[in-house]
Amino acid sequence: MIIAIDGPSGAGKSTIARRVGEELGLFVLDTGAMYRSVALEVLRQQVDPNDSEAVAQVARRIELHFDGDGRITVNGKCVAQEIRSEQVESIVSVVAANPLVRRAMVPKQKLVAEEQGGVVAEGRDMTTVVFADSRFRFYLDASAEVRAQRRAQQRGTPEKAPEIQLALEARDRIDSGREDSPLHLAQGVRHIDTDNQSAEDVVSEILGHVRSGVG
Ligand code: C5P
Repeated sequence: MIIAIDGPSGAGKSTIARRVGEELGLFVLDTGAMYRSVALEVLRQQVDPNDSEAVAQVARRIELHFDGDGRITVNGKCVAQEIRSEQVESIVSVVAANPLVRRAMVPKQKLVAEEQGGVVAEGRDMTTVVFADSRFRFYLDASAEVRAQRRAQQRGTPEKAPEIQLALEARDRIDSGREDSPLHLAQGVRHIDTDNQSAEDVVSEILGHVRSGVG
């Protein structure tokens, strides 16, 4: 069973995917963490993020794994914390727009799904490319304002919401405007607007569709 979830930054995908995974006993595949790990390694190795071949080399060589709890490791070291830094965030969309990087990541994502015997997969191209054949595909959305407010609350800095909103919107523009696997709502994917819904409501809605067998 594969449940594919896409949507812009801060729409609540991680929280929702984790809860749906817990309910259904499925591994949660955070594909954003994979692109973030490549970006982290690009920073570490002082590679120019715009040098597509050099960045592709990093993506091809990186030793990425998920531990049993779904936390990402690079060369055996957990980087779950480090990949959330502002520095990583400022270059990750440029790194992820590189088709050669995507070519290195997508097979790994499919392999994890196969090894785990099913996943809740979240990202930007789960419903459109990587698991486009899945019966259960959801697009989580929210206004930029609400997404920024949620992020700012999570970080304990509510006063930074306007600044965070600008950064989210910049990332959205690259993720939706890129040529390879852009974020978009595809036909047949269920659109869920989370502006006025609690996480519980969204989880129930998704579980309702999955349990009834209708995506
Ligand atoms: O979901 P998260 O914010 O961690 O994703 C970080 C970045 O990784 C996104 O802004 C996007 O550029 C990239 N990404 C992607 N495709 C995915 C998941 C994430 O391009 N499937």
